[in-house]
Order: sequence, then structure tokens, then C-alpha cells
Amino acid sequence: MSKYIFVTGGVVSSVGKGITVASIGNILKSRQIAVSAQKLDPYLNVDPGTMSPYQHGEVFVTQDGAETDLDLGNYERFIDINLTAESSVTSGQIYSAVIAKERRGDFLGGTIQVVPHVTTEIKERFKRLAEKSKAEVVIIEVGGTVGDIEGQPFLEAIRQMRNDVGRDNVLYVHVTLLPHLNSTQEVKTKPTQHSVNELRRIGIQPDIIVCRSDYPISEGIRDKISLFCDVERRAVIPLPTVSTIYEVPLVLEEEGLGQLIVDKLGLGPHQSDLKQWQELVNLIKTPREPVNIALVGKYVELKDAYFSVREALQHAVLYHGRDIALNWAPSEALETNGDYSVLRSAQGIIVPGGFGIRGIEGMIKAATYARENKIPYLGLCLGMQVMVIEFARYVLGSNKPNSTEFDANTPYPVIDFLPDQRGKVAKGGTMRLGNYPCQLVDGSHAAIAYGQSLVYERHRHRYEFNNEYREQLEKAGMVLSGLSPDGRLVEVCELADHPWMVSSQFHPEFTSRPGRPNPLFRDFIGVAKDILREGAQPPLPLSPPD
Ligand code: GLN
Repeated sequence: MSKYIFVTGGVVSSVGKGITVASIGNILKSRQIAVSAQKLDPYLNVDPGTMSPYQHGEVFVTQDGAETDLDLGNYERFIDINLTAESSVTSGQIYSAVIAKERRGDFLGGTIQVVPHVTTEIKERFKRLAEKSKAEVVIIEVGGTVGDIEGQPFLEAIRQMRNDVGRDNVLYVHVTLLPHLNSTQEVKTKPTQHSVNELRRIGIQPDIIVCRSDYPISEGIRDKISLFCDVERRAVIPLPTVSTIYEVPLVLEEEGLGQLIVDKLGLGPHQSDLKQWQELVNLIKTPREPVNIALVGKYVELKDAYFSVREALQHAVLYHGRDIALNWAPSEALETNGDYSVLRSAQGIIVPGGFGIRGIEGMIKAATYARENKIPYLGLCLGMQVMVIEFARYVLGSNKPNSTEFDANTPYPVIDFLPDQRGKVAKGGTMRLGNYPCQLVDGSHAAIAYGQSLVYERHRHRYEFNNEYREQLEKAGMVLSGLSPDGRLVEVCELADHPWMVSSQFHPEFTSRPGRPNPLFRDFIGVAKDILREGAQPPLPLSPPD
């Protein structure tokens, strides 16, 4: 039977609860303990798929096609596992399931209530993940902070779990913030005491308190939290702000959290091995020469909207022993004032995923710039559609080619719904989602990058390359280097007469891992790093030429 670690948050949100969960997974996995993770999101949306990235950042997609919170991406990257739809639970899903059962007559005659019906449904989700993943330890993050109205049923459910599976099989971890007062130069514990009180009020006594702070936490502060919150002294774990999120597992291990969890859950003797992770962090902290990359997108004001893209770039530059200088270019600005300064210094250009017409013409301009100036280009989903539109405009000598997403009446719909997709109008759950196979063409940049001919990557889009234009674009120099095995769908395209202009209909960023960058990102940076741009100096020879 699986054991459960429930992680709640106190005081304020955005203190790194997700990274803490991912890091706990990492330090347990480094002891050869099989783990899985789950995120509980208290909002009423069924999934974040229809939410604007401005609300919750990137929508992460699992291999089986669930549209989830970006925290799942961190779990996958830190624990190095592939999660499934069972790892993402929202109040919307829970209530829909309970109401569907009520309509079907499953509770005939009963009054349907939050306790027990909603909480039972929530607990079912815990057990479902435990059974499916066969993990020894399932780590479950309760989204939001203790005290939120929507979060109450989740907290009640995790409280009940202690009796359901036995107190030796359950651990409660509370992640809080210790604010610092400049006037008195003090780190304060009172908000933590309050949030622990709030937890106790509903019957949960935390076993471990992880204390986030921008300032060092003294022994005295630890004693105080231990005393007032009634947790063991060694169970007060300081987690000061670190320069890279990848350092968090090392900090937690150093503070003894791994051993503490093993002891408390009775997991038996285990040796921790964080050597590779330590090497990765050492490399991140070593000064490296940056590669200048421009990211041209419409959500650039909120960096979290491209979380996995940013991480994949980080993995790729580390592979090449380089750093990243990522310049965010709002595509709308490129459209209106034609300011190309970011592009002029870029050694590579990325156009990431997105929806809707805003900023599209600016992205097309960026693609023209990359094609004409032979700057490495990586298109991710929408970025591929933009590359196809741009190339079609060039080939046809017209500015009319478009996607029917942006111009329903274009005479040249190079990106369109497939004929069998027409008629699907709902916005939720009508996309091509999750893993699909892709056959790569021998000798193409994509095939060279992956080093194999059949790959699986994750999708999230409605529109597709329109097959009517294949022949024309291929003749003009576009290589359709990745196709679905039945040949019907174009999954990767690239330009023949260009050093590296490659785009995929899928999102390669979701499968990139620290130490194992996604091949397209890796090769994109591999080519970009050697491109010389405006203002850059060629490296000086170490010895004078003879
Ligand atoms: N809007 C495009 C489509 O739906 C691209 C989606 C994306 O980039 N994820 O096909």
C-alpha cells in the first residue's frame, strides 16, 4: 500500500510549494523510493485548458493529454517521471463527477453533501493515483493557502486520510513564509503560528514545517516554531531563497528532510545519491558564456506563461556548457513599430505556442527575419504554423496565406481544420492532446537531432498543416521532415536552404529534462551558439596564429 505526503501552504501563495513538492519527490527518488505526485487545484474550472496563461501561467500537458497546472511540469522535471491525468485534480472535476453520479441515481434518496460525498470523491482520486502509479510514496500538493474557501473540502479529505489509511502512512508538511521586517531586522514567526492554528482548527497537525524566507533563519527562530507549532525541532526545515530552483532538493537534503521523511513513514534504510544533481547545480552556478535567444510571443509580460520553454532552453544551454540570455519580444510591438533590435542581437529565435490572432503578424515578421538572415529558428506548435504561413506568403508572393484561426476567409488556408474536425465548436476538450507518434525523414535536422526515426511528443492544438499545400511548399524548399505514421499529418517541417529553421506541431518543451535536454532544443542551441550577431565579439584566439 502507498504512503501519502500531503503538502499544504500557509501565509501567502507563490512561496515555492510546488518546487518543494517536486524537491521532496527528488530526494525520495534519489533513495530509490518509487514516488508519484498529484496537484489539487481548488478552482472550479474542470481543467486549466481554457484559462488564459495570464491567470495561471503555462498549461502543462501530460503524455496522456491532460491539460494541467504548470506545477506538474516541475514534478516531471525534478522527479524525472511521466505523469498522467490522475495527477491533476480540480474542484471542477470533483463536483462534475459527484453531480454526474447524482443525476445517474447512484445516491438515490440521499442528500448530497460536501462531507461525505465530495470528500469521498477526492479521496478516490488519491487512491486511484496510488494504484495506477504503484508508487511507494504519493506526494499530494493542496493548491492555494490554508483558509481559502475553495480549499476546505480538500483539507477535510486529507484530514480523513489519516484515519482511513492509518497515521503511520500519512505525513503532513506545511510550507510557510517567514516575513522579514526591515525596521527591526527580524524574521517573524507569527503568521506561521496563525496558519498552523488554522490547520489545527480543522484537525490537521503538521508533522513538518518548511520555512521559506529571503533571510537566514536563526536557531532561535527554529526553536520558537518548534515550540509554538508543536513540531519536532528537526522537523522545522529552513528553506532560504536560493539562486536556482534546482538547488532546492540539495538544501532540503542538507537540512535532513529526506531522512526525516524516511523515519516518520518507516520507509526502511536507504542511501541517498544526489551526485548528478549536485553536478548539475554546480554547473548552473558556474559563470558561462551566454547564448542570445529572442522569444517572440504574445504572453511575454508573464514569464510563467512559457515556463517549460524556459526550462528546456536552460537544459539545452547547460548541455553545451553555456548560459542563456533570453530576450522577450512582445510580438505586437514587432507588428506596430517594427523594432528589430532584439532580433538583431539574437543568435536564435523562438516562436512558442499560443492562441488567437493578437500578435500573429509580428511573429510572422520574426519568421521572415529568421529565414532571410539565416538565423536559427525553433517554432513550437503555433511557431510552426507561423513558419508555414510565412513561407507560403513568400512562395506565393502574397500576404493572404493564413491560418483559418486568424482569417476564416483566407484564399490560401495553409493551416486549417482537418475535414473531419469541422463541426467541433466547444472550446474545452476539443484539441489534439497528448502523445502522438511522428515518423522522421532520414537525414533531416529533426532526424539528426533525435537520432531515431519514430518519436513520441505531446500536442495541444486544434489546427493542422493543410495537405493541399504540401506539394507547392515542398517544391519551394520546405522539408516536411516529420509526419504521422499514416502520412496524414505534418508534425515537423524545416527549410532546406537554411542552417537550422525547424518547427514542430508538437510541444517538445514538455519532455525536456535537466541533464537530458529535448533534442530539438539541444540542436537549436548547438547551432545558435556559433552564430555571430551585432555587437558580439568573435572569441579571441588563445595563442597567436603562427
Ligand atoms: N492556436 C493554434 C492551434 O490551436 C496553436 C496552438 C498552440 O500553439 N498550442 O492549432
